[in-house]
Amino acid sequence: MNTFASVHEVVINMGITSVKEEDFLVIDLHADIPEDISARREKGETHVLETTHLRKFREGGIDAAIFAVWVESEFKPCGALRRGLQIVENVYEELSETNEFVLVTSPFDIVKAKEYGKIAVILGVEGAELIEQDLRLLRIFHRLGLKTLGLVWQQRNIIADGLGERRTRGGLSNFGVDVIKECNRLGIIVDLAHLTEPGFWDVLEATEKPVIVSHTHVQPVARPKESWAGLNDEQIKAIAKNSGIMGICTVTTAKADPPGTVDLVVKEMEYVKRLVGIDCLAFGADYYDFLFPALKIEMPEYDFVLMPGLEDASKTHNLARKMMEKGFSNREIRKILGENFLRLFKEVTS
Ligand SMILES: [Zn+2]
Repeated sequence: MNTFASVHEVVINMGITSVKEEDFLVIDLHADIPEDISARREKGETHVLETTHLRKFREGGIDAAIFAVWVESEFKPCGALRRGLQIVENVYEELSETNEFVLVTSPFDIVKAKEYGKIAVILGVEGAELIEQDLRLLRIFHRLGLKTLGLVWQQRNIIADGLGERRTRGGLSNFGVDVIKECNRLGIIVDLAHLTEPGFWDVLEATEKPVIVSHTHVQPVARPKESWAGLNDEQIKAIAKNSGIMGICTVTTAKADPPGTVDLVVKEMEYVKRLVGIDCLAFGADYYDFLFPALKIEMPEYDFVLMPGLEDASKTHNLARKMMEKGFSNREIRKILGENFLRLFKEVTS
């Protein structure tokens, strides 16, 4: 069996491009794959996970990912529940067609899935319009396997404001506070990605459990687009104090200054490490190679480009390699790429 040290040596000395990390977990905190599954299945395709995503996951060495159920804006707010359920069903249909991916609902399941050579799928939500204003709907999604709840996407909803509404400085609603409490009680991880800063502080005040920011950037280091601020120093310190974690992502644009690259992702991690240590760090790729050209058409103003070195899931091994080159220890890489999330998942569900 390979040890991580031997993999490290092979990568550094031979420059191989595919790292199969046999003995440590790689967890991607944000994958928009349910959107791709839905778009393709609704055009008549089947086995989308196997035909479109499996090879990339295997080549990149990803063992588990949070599959975010994201309801398209045209279904919000009316119709979000129905659309959300359709997307969940599309994911379930896909999972029934493959033995390579498996739905997991506990940290133990993630470790077991890896042992059996399967890729673990953690069901999440990006934008909680689909629970309407009814905690019973949140409980039903929990029964369907929901493990992470992203409160907002870019819009305002009944819970809080997304970054697209940050001009209005809105925080968490009273219902939003109830949602946080219910997530804490049920063992659903609250995800603060896309949340405005007032909402961010309100959630940290309301929650009794660690939270995640599944896909974000470090504001002082990388700011790929004007309307997406990333986390500032005070927010990063607060996440660390909450025992939460933040997943650095690959989102970047043609206008990003400095340009987004795998080097810059590692620089973001180095910055957080210096500021608060590594226990709050993770990787939330948000790969969107499979969403082009729809993304170009829907959000042309951002001019999204694929991040050089991390263009899609098959390139994920480049991140571990770059971290090694920059002096991150094996133990630190293990924690950042997987174990920090496992620890948090245990804390929230126990
Ligand atoms: Zn997002």
